[in-house]
Amino acid sequence: MSFAENLAAVRSRIASACARAGRDPATVGIVAVSKTQPAEVVIEAVAAGVDAIGENRVQEAAVKRPLVGGATPWHLIGPLQRNKAKLALDLLDLIETVDRPELADRLEALGAPSQRVLPVFIEVNIGVEDQKSGVLPVASPALVERILGQCPHLRLCGVMTVPPYDPDPRRSRPYFEALRRLARDLERRFGLSPLQLSMGMSEDFEAAVEEGATLVRLGRVLFGERRIAP
Ligand SMILES: *Cc1c(COP(=O)(O)O)cnc(C)c1O
Repeated sequence: MSFAENLAAVRSRIASACARAGRDPATVGIVAVSKTQPAEVVIEAVAAGVDAIGENRVQEAAVKRPLVGGATPWHLIGPLQRNKAKLALDLLDLIETVDRPELADRLEALGAPSQRVLPVFIEVNIGVEDQKSGVLPVASPALVERILGQCPHLRLCGVMTVPPYDPDPRRSRPYFEALRRLARDLERRFGLSPLQLSMGMSEDFEAAVEEGATLVRLGRVLFGERRIAP
């Protein structure tokens, strides 16, 4: 199957999930997660019209993005170390994984001189798992407050999560619902316009769409198996 065929199949599955939930499929964007995939296939993804490219490592994006070109935005979806923040800021269009005040402060300090405003999502550890990246749900209002109050060069426009691993997508669904509720709560509390909900991967994106995902992050279902260990 070509990338374009895989994308068409995914779009029809998203449309069915939207029909079940009474949603408009045009409100669900697709981030093609190209980690481990060579630039040639990322070029196919861009040509096929995905909404964004997602990479989980800044250095991998740095190698591939110049080879891929095009106007499709690139999102960082993996953890961002402090020492990679400058490269990330220069290279990526949106960072989905702001998960601590220190990182927000760092991106703010780096972005301020250029006057650029970087769109960011906060990553939430919605299942409150040990060893998992993401801000805890209880700490997320404080992180939002920090970004809104202290970081004029960051624009908070969404929340992102990876729920606890479970091969049964039905068990991810309560976590997707929890992220949606958290987003609505943050919007009310801080008077924000609707936040994007980045949730759902190859195994569980339909459940995520039924729970309100506005961006799904899809790797294997679009590209096939990963090429090398991520
Ligand atoms: C790899 C990855 C994905 C995509 O995973 P698939 O199961 O291949 O769809 C989505 N989100 C994040 C954060 C990832 O690291």
